[in-house]
Amino acid sequence: MSNQKIIVTGGCGYIGSHTTVALQNAGYNVVIFDNLANSTPETLDRITEITGVRPMFEKIDCTDIDAVRDAFDRHGDATGVIHFAALKAVGESVSYPLMYYKNNLVSLINVLEMMTAFNIENIVFSSSATVYGAPDTLPATEDTPTRAATSPYGQTKIMAETIIRDTVAANPKMHAVLLRYFNPIGAHPSGKIGELPRGVPNNLMPYITQVACGQREKLNVFGDDYPTPDGFCVRDYIDVNDLADAHIAALRHMIDSGDDIDVFNIGTGRGLSVMEIIRTFERATGVKINYTITARRPGDVPAIWACADKAAKVLGWRAKTPLDDTMRAAWLWQQNISKN
Ligand code: NAD
Ligand code: UDP
Repeated sequence: MSNQKIIVTGGCGYIGSHTTVALQNAGYNVVIFDNLANSTPETLDRITEITGVRPMFEKIDCTDIDAVRDAFDRHGDATGVIHFAALKAVGESVSYPLMYYKNNLVSLINVLEMMTAFNIENIVFSSSATVYGAPDTLPATEDTPTRAATSPYGQTKIMAETIIRDTVAANPKMHAVLLRYFNPIGAHPSGKIGELPRGVPNNLMPYITQVACGQREKLNVFGDDYPTPDGFCVRDYIDVNDLADAHIAALRHMIDSGDDIDVFNIGTGRGLSVMEIIRTFERATGVKINYTITARRPGDVPAIWACADKAAKVLGWRAKTPLDDTMRAAWLWQQNISKN
């Protein structure tokens, strides 16, 4: 058990809340920095119900350097930072690029600056498989070349990785782990925390659960003519609780190894098509999904999945939640939020 303090920016959000639960269950003291731009304060109550411990909370906008400085001043005894705070809607980023560059990059720069000022040496960063674009060979390994992103959101991840690399190179005491997430899905098995999409979901899984509960009439399946075994797009869907655990493994490794910088794919190592996801959801929950095949969505790569061997070898982490359990948790969460 550890009683180290960890700053979790964006800790009220989807992945941050699950990671806070995992950290608290592992004995860490968590302080969340979040402006609640895409989350609600009730998440703090839910985390408390699950873990029996209320995380500390600073309602701050990470783009506000004075607020970030004040918060670091109160929590300068932290061992590390897990930096989730970012805007993440790909389509919105195309319409509002400056909002995305400002929010995602200024937040990161402020956090790095204050880490340096307060001698906090360890950062885990939420990167994304989007940095690979459409790889020439699959699965994507950490050595697969990164590509210029097709959206400002994706571009913020490429730029953030560079900013972190350069900062670590210039500060010998600083350590970083870049986690490239594949497609996070699911919810806590209690159904108390999960993904809270604003408006019409962009992502597959919340769309499926909203169709399942009757909130939406049918799912649009984007394209059935891809060069994949069944013609549907292929992704690597990672359970959000497994993803949360990867952050703890990354923190431990960073502190124990003293490595300057490491990058890990966080996925299952298995590609599944949109149709396989629909069928698995139906089997696991007993609920039929009404769908229709539509045109491809611009910007979607036909297939991508992770080589997850490096995380297994170096971090001792691998995905373990059966997909049926992930589906049932997502469905339980959807039923809970539909009630309110
Ligand atoms: P989310 O929107 O649920 O959580 C992000 C949290 O950050 C929210 O609580 C939001 O209020 C907060 N936030 C945003 N801007 C902020 C700011 N300026 N100051 C303070 N708080 C701020 O998103 P998520 O799905 O939990 O994603 C977490 C991280 O993982 C993000 O960096 C995202 O880009 C990355 N990521 C997500 C996915 C995915 O599919 N969910 C995939 C790859 C990478
Ligand atoms: N998808 C779909 N219908 C939807 C949303 C997504 O068919 O309403 C497909 C999409 O084409 C992709 C997969 O589901 O192949 C995952 O999409 P998502 O937006 O969840 O994640 P992405 O891989 O784009 O980050």
